[in-house]
Amino acid sequence: MSLAELTVTELIDRLVNGTTTNVEIVKAVLERIREVEGAVNAFITVRPEDELLAEAKAYDDKRQAGEAIGPLQGLPIAIKDSICTKGLLTTAASKMLGEFVPPFDATVIARIRQADGILLGKTNTDEFSMGSTTENSAFGVTRNPRNLDYVPGGSSGGSAAAVAAGEAPIALGADTGGSVRQPAAYCGIVGLKPTYGRISRFGLIAYASSLDQIGVCSRDVADAFLMLSVIAGHDPHDSTSLGTPVPTFPKKADSASLRVGVPDEYFGAGLDDEVRAAIQRTLDLMKGQGHTVVPISLPNSKYSLPTYYIIATAEASSNLARYDGVQYGHRTSQPGGLIDMVTNSRTEAFGDEVKRRIMLGNYVLSGGYHDQYYLKACKVRRLIADDFSRAFEQCDVIVHPIAPSAAFRLGEKTGDPLTMYLTDIYSVTANLAGLPALTLPCGTTKDGLPIGVQVVAATEQEETLCRASLAIEKLLREE
Ligand code: GLN
Repeated sequence: MSLAELTVTELIDRLVNGTTTNVEIVKAVLERIREVEGAVNAFITVRPEDELLAEAKAYDDKRQAGEAIGPLQGLPIAIKDSICTKGLLTTAASKMLGEFVPPFDATVIARIRQADGILLGKTNTDEFSMGSTTENSAFGVTRNPRNLDYVPGGSSGGSAAAVAAGEAPIALGADTGGSVRQPAAYCGIVGLKPTYGRISRFGLIAYASSLDQIGVCSRDVADAFLMLSVIAGHDPHDSTSLGTPVPTFPKKADSASLRVGVPDEYFGAGLDDEVRAAIQRTLDLMKGQGHTVVPISLPNSKYSLPTYYIIATAEASSNLARYDGVQYGHRTSQPGGLIDMVTNSRTEAFGDEVKRRIMLGNYVLSGGYHDQYYLKACKVRRLIADDFSRAFEQCDVIVHPIAPSAAFRLGEKTGDPLTMYLTDIYSVTANLAGLPALTLPCGTTKDGLPIGVQVVAATEQEETLCRASLAIEKLLREE
């Protein structure tokens, strides 16, 4: 197997036992990028080869000299282009930030550097993370490496595609309503979104601040939690970051039995038959292994999509107000007066979907509608979260689909925003309730496209999430 296809854990084993080098790994990854990037377009920026090879060689020299190297062992890491990297272009896939080179590192980037990871490059996304397919990027669409006619999912479609295509062993994404988990599922890899606040958002370009959470795209469950243990933890720069200690995560499945909650409401009309069957088979395998399947109810989840699209757009309209061509972002060459300058700058540099969200957000926050839409959505959000808290009295994890179908064809839903929003129906609740959730591949459609299953745990219970996900991964691999 090529070095470009191994997991982080396998690569680290080889580095430590001397059967490969950091230079060989970086070369293998760059080779793969050269082969597939023209078709896949997972990256907005790949760092120059000479810089990457020099950093890799420095780690090889250190290891040779017997010096200690941090947990990421000089491996190349891909980063979603909405996460600020000092000295490296960070665009959020928008013309608005088309030339933005951050003067600082996001906390997660500082931690990756500290843990001896090499920044490989910045991955494509929907503009300001608004979308479900990576088709809303100012830098061209990303294609699904499993079938180039299909979307990779989104918004962290570049990160998921890079990992699935062997262009990076692991990647960071960000998940506001499913943006790590859903593209991971569409591309046939693992996607992890931890508890809201588990990872600092300092330096993450904000979309909807009460929902945004950085996450990981990886080739297996253990890798996702390895990365989580590097980047998680309290950060004084983010007042919403959790103060509680980060748990230690198991690396291998154990035989402890789990109570698995299955919510009826997530298996209703609109769910594709092949997805339903793949998840049912996963649940049957779990039962066969001695886990208990518990029927649960999450009745308010039926309101999740309107609730999400009110709260997310409200917060987006407020977060994106800063891009005025003065403090931040593109400035028009046709300024006129102040109002024209701001209007023209924003008109020229924001794409259609971002404009749509800003208008929706301003509408739901405007005088007379604020109580009717925004406040009401905040109340329903609480009801949705309360349903989950009640359900977790009866079960350890909840299992349900991540999306109603596997990946669909490029362009299939771009003409109809509402149909596009509907694909988020099963992913947004974990964000509304702030819960940790992971998706892993559980089958393929007859057309050969991956199907993902989602595992959700109670707040701050990432250790349980890890145990359950390792157990499911093992079952699926062994059958
Ligand atoms: N598809 C959802 C949206 O467009 C979620 C995106 C995300 O998680 N960033 O809002």
